[in-house]
Amino acid sequence: MDAMKSYDVLIVGGGMVGASLVQALAGQGLRIAVIESVPVETRTEPGYDDRALALAHGTRKIFHALGLWEELSAAATPIHRIHISDRGHCGFTRMERTEEGLEALGYVVPARAITRVLGGVLRQPGAVDLYCPAVLSELEIDESGAMARLSTDATEQEITARLVVAADGAGSSIRDRLGIPVQVHDYGQVAIVTNITPQLPHHNIAYERFTETGPLALLPMSEQRCAVVWTVDEKDSDTVTALSDAEFLDRLQDRFGYRLGRLERVGRRQAWPLRLVRAQESVRQRLALVGNAAHTLHPIAGQGFNLGVRDVAVLAEVIVDAVRADRDPGDLAVLSRYGSWRQGDHRRVTAFTDGMARMFTLPLPAFGVVRSAGMVALDLLPPAKRLLTRLTMGRGGRVPRLARGLPL
Ligand SMILES: Cc1cc2nc3c(=O)[nH]c(=O)nc-3n(C[C@H](O)[C@H](O)[C@H](O)COP(=O)(O)OP(=O)(O)OC[C@H]3O[C@@H](n4cnc5c(N)ncnc54)[C@H](O)[C@@H]3O)c2cc1C
Repeated sequence: MDAMKSYDVLIVGGGMVGASLVQALAGQGLRIAVIESVPVETRTEPGYDDRALALAHGTRKIFHALGLWEELSAAATPIHRIHISDRGHCGFTRMERTEEGLEALGYVVPARAITRVLGGVLRQPGAVDLYCPAVLSELEIDESGAMARLSTDATEQEITARLVVAADGAGSSIRDRLGIPVQVHDYGQVAIVTNITPQLPHHNIAYERFTETGPLALLPMSEQRCAVVWTVDEKDSDTVTALSDAEFLDRLQDRFGYRLGRLERVGRRQAWPLRLVRAQESVRQRLALVGNAAHTLHPIAGQGFNLGVRDVAVLAEVIVDAVRADRDPGDLAVLSRYGSWRQGDHRRVTAFTDGMARMFTLPLPAFGVVRSAGMVALDLLPPAKRLLTRLTMGRGGRVPRLARGLPL
């Protein structure tokens, strides 16, 4: 067994959110460790099948302040307009970048590009001790500190930290281990994720279309591809993923219509089960939850990672302020500032996403009318639309320094 090492911050989970936090805290004089179970360098899959994420304008600002946007922007496709419609009903609404005075409402970035840039962050020499591949196998927390045991293929090691950050994703073992209660709703749906190439150029428009079999998003990507996120009933998942390319394109065309002409090429299909998981506590003495470990959302509005990046901006600010004031960053009084600051944003975005997911997947004809009315009202009522725009662009609530483009 190696000698015990001590850290200020131990981040469990070096996924997109955990790695973003490393970047935010690097250079602040903190001793940081990350435990990640999946080898960092194996998580890159180039090619037509890139999974993509829609990043909000606010996320771009935070990545810019973190010095990562320049590299990411090379792979980013800006969204100029969002078009929301309901199959078989007349109502639709539009959001325009010009209404917001922005160059883009958001950006579609391949997950591979984000992972590559953040993988580089985890491997920065001197900035962080990366334990990878390694799994957190035990965690004990008391007033004075946290002790974590981690296992690699061949060894077991113990480390201590003043603060543990759970960035270990939707199935967070830290949450389970510490008995943190969760609100769970199984949508009984899966997201079928793939890429397509339509006959006509996408002109940087993101489409969100509600169909009787679930919401369907087409996001503009590079090389005139569109990233497809199509929600279907769990029971139809195997059938849809097993369709031949031609059958899949036919079915998608039927749901989406001909706004982009014929849908001509499709990549590999992947199915993601959909659940809402929300931790009922986001802080405890020496513990903070971020990203999917705190909130796993339906992907209907592309909010999950964006919300996680805002967790990072706030938590980093709270930690750095505490250290500068000579306070213990793991103290509950310090972490409560993070917990209460994030509460409103978590509540608003979860309620918005969950409400949309439930309303737009109910098959009852009456709901079609409500939905159409909702969309027409949204188009006619600037305040309602502005609220939607603010939420989807990540602009709700009190804004941390990084999101204002300021250094920590
Ligand atoms: C179909 C779909 C589409 C989406 N589209 C969007 C979008 O357009 N925009 C958006 O903002 N969000 C989107 N999301 C959500 C987004 O993907 C997630 O919010 C984001 O990936 C969460 O990142 P995370 O780092 O919190 O969790 P994860 O990515 O799950 O990372 C957790 C990490 O912790 C590691 N880990 C777990 N347990 C341990 C352990 N015990 N020891 C060591 N390591 C451990 C894992 O290996 C992993 O690397 C989408 C989600 C889905 C399913």
